[in-house]
This record gives sequence, structure tokens and C-alpha cells, in this order.
Amino acid sequence: MKDLEQHLVPIDLTSAMGQLVELSATNSWTYNPQGLATTLNMLLEMFSSLGASVSTQPIRDHVEIDDRGEPRARKLGDIASIQKWPEAPVQILLVGHYDTVFSPEHPFQSSTLKGDRLVGPGTADMKGGLLVMHAALSTLEASPWAGTVGWQALLTPDEEIGSPGSAEVLERASAEKMAGFVFEPSFPDGSLASERKGSGTFDLHVQGVAAHAGRDHHLGRNAVTAAARLATELERLNGHWEGVTVNIGSISGGGPTNIVPDSAVVRLNVRVPTGRIADEFQQAVESIAAQASSADGITVTTHGTFTRRPKEMSSGIEALLGGAKRAAAAVGFNLDWHATGGVSDGNNLAAAGLPNLDNLGVHGGNIHSDSEFMYPASLATRSALSGLLLLMLASGELEVPQ
Ligand SMILES: [Zn+2]
Repeated sequence: MKDLEQHLVPIDLTSAMGQLVELSATNSWTYNPQGLATTLNMLLEMFSSLGASVSTQPIRDHVEIDDRGEPRARKLGDIASIQKWPEAPVQILLVGHYDTVFSPEHPFQSSTLKGDRLVGPGTADMKGGLLVMHAALSTLEASPWAGTVGWQALLTPDEEIGSPGSAEVLERASAEKMAGFVFEPSFPDGSLASERKGSGTFDLHVQGVAAHAGRDHHLGRNAVTAAARLATELERLNGHWEGVTVNIGSISGGGPTNIVPDSAVVRLNVRVPTGRIADEFQQAVESIAAQASSADGITVTTHGTFTRRPKEMSSGIEALLGGAKRAAAAVGFNLDWHATGGVSDGNNLAAAGLPNLDNLGVHGGNIHSDSEFMYPASLATRSALSGLLLLMLASGELEVPQ
């Protein structure tokens, strides 16, 4: 390992911090195509230092149903693929998203340095991580092992809404790769994720029959009360399987009180520990919907699915975690890991059979809140960690069982 460390190219902290401050101040909310385009240009300029080939492609619109069950399409940003050494015998995949969670109207739009923290949107999740990815690849390309490992880096625009458009690109890119690296921030205690639960989002549209509340109440079929009963049934799925949580996020529908409402939507999110339970849950939702539909004049239509399958432990992931622990020790810190209910694009790569580590980005916290922060010092330590991991793979010191 000693020999490998001397090939690490330390990240230039001053210029990296300058880039991160600029990136944080550029709004890249998932539904802000203009801000996403500006952000992607900034990133591609940074990645151009690697001498790789770059292509960008649009992804399909995000389609959701509105409160009347009608589909509504929203534009997303482009996905960028940066690729080098496609002929090399070993290929790896690196993934980072550049979308963030705050719309341009929100007051949290730029960063401030507070003590040992940089507080700002996307500083941890995951614009800081994209700088780590770039630094790790810079180490690999400057090393004697450049060209022994081919790589593809995907910069995606829709992770924060579950990667609906990027999913198929991530799946295709996972084929014939040996390992995947995703640059989500580490947990607040600095550790990595091992297993991750799967996540599903389901929208159940209830169609009833409208009628005047006074004259024809008996002719109406109330979609709002049917939705309330449906939500209660779905809520009961909590506790049915070990490790499954069902969250009814909203019930919407109805209108003026003098009309029997004919439309309502129940929206839920579920987290599951295994693929088998994901399938069983989906069947349970279908049968609850069918049961509700058997009421006179009521029709329930189920939309949605598991956007992230569970990421379960494998020998490949174990090998990568072990390698990361050795790499961290070599650059001077201790690294642990634990399972989580949170999801990432690492779920998608694992579902496509690609062993991966998925929070190799900066150390920070409070993500998805207006106090999101990262520790600037972690740009150096995490870049060294990932850089060394890539060198271990390229030099054959780390092997990943498939
Ligand atoms: Zn993220």
C-alpha cells in the first residue's frame, strides 16, 4: 500500500473551495432546467481536465398524476456521460447527481463559511461529492496505472426525485463494469452505507361519482371518504413485515361542500429491506386497491412502483468496504459502515448487479434542509480515500468478486 499512496495527487483545496462556493450559488433544483444546464456546463468544464470523451443526452420527462388522476409531465435536465479507456479490460462506473432540493424561490441559495463548516445548498449533497469524484479520477489519470482501468462517469439531473429518467441509463451503464462508486455524502458520523432499504412511491387515484349534496346525495359515490378508508387499510401494512415502514404522505381531493366529491388521491412512500418483500408489498397494495374498487361506484387505480430496489449485502460490496477501510487507514482515518433506510443511485446499480460503494463524497450533514453543510477538510481526506481506492483497483491490489 505504501507505494500506492505516493501516487495520490492532493486536491487543491483553495480552488476546490472556490468551485464549490460557485456551484452552491448556482440553483440546480430538479425542476429548474435552466439552472441545471448552467450547472452541468460548469461541471463539464471542470471534468475536461481529464481528457475524456463527453456526451450529453436528454432524459424522459417525469410524469406524475395530479389530484384528479391526470398525468402531468415535467421537464428534467440532461445526463452527461464522461468516458475514458473504453478498451481497457477492467471498467468501472462513477455516478454523481447535480440536482438539489431547493427551488429558486427558497431563500437558501448560497453558502457561508461558519467555523469548520461550509453551509450551503448542495455543498454536501452532492456538489462537494462531484469535486471528490473529479479529484479521484485526476489521481488515477496521473498515475502509472492510467489506462489499465477504463471508466465512465455519469452526472445525473434527477436523483433527488428518485432518478425516474436516469434509471434506465444507470442500468445500462452498470453492465460489464467491475465496481461502482457513487459520491453521496458520508453519514454525519463519517461512516459509509452498507445495505440500503428499497423505496417505493405509490399514488392511488380514487374515482367516485359526483352529485349535488342536497338534491341527489344518494346518487353520489364519495371519493374522499373512500380514499380515507383506503388510507387506513394501507396504514395497517405497517408492522406486517419486519423492517417495513409505510408512510401515507397525503390525501387530496374534493372541493365545494355542496358536491359529493368524485376524485381523490392517496400518496404513500414505503421502505422495504428485501426484494422479496418489495414484491409482496406491491401485491398487497394491488389487492387493497381491488378490494376498495369492489365498492359500488368506486374505482381505484394504482400508479407508481419501487423506484429503488433494496441494496442487499454481497461479497462484492464486502470486498469494496474492506478495501475502503484499508484505504482510509492508509490516509489516516478510521472508516466504518452501517445499514440505512435511506436510498441512493447505489440501489439502482446494485439492482443491476453492480457491487458499489455509494457515499464516498464529502463528510457533512443536515442534507435536504436549509442548514446543509460540509466540512471543507473532508475534500482532502475523501479525495485521498477514493483516489487510493481507484489505484488499488487499477494496480490489482483490490479485487471485487462479481
Ligand atoms: Zn444526494
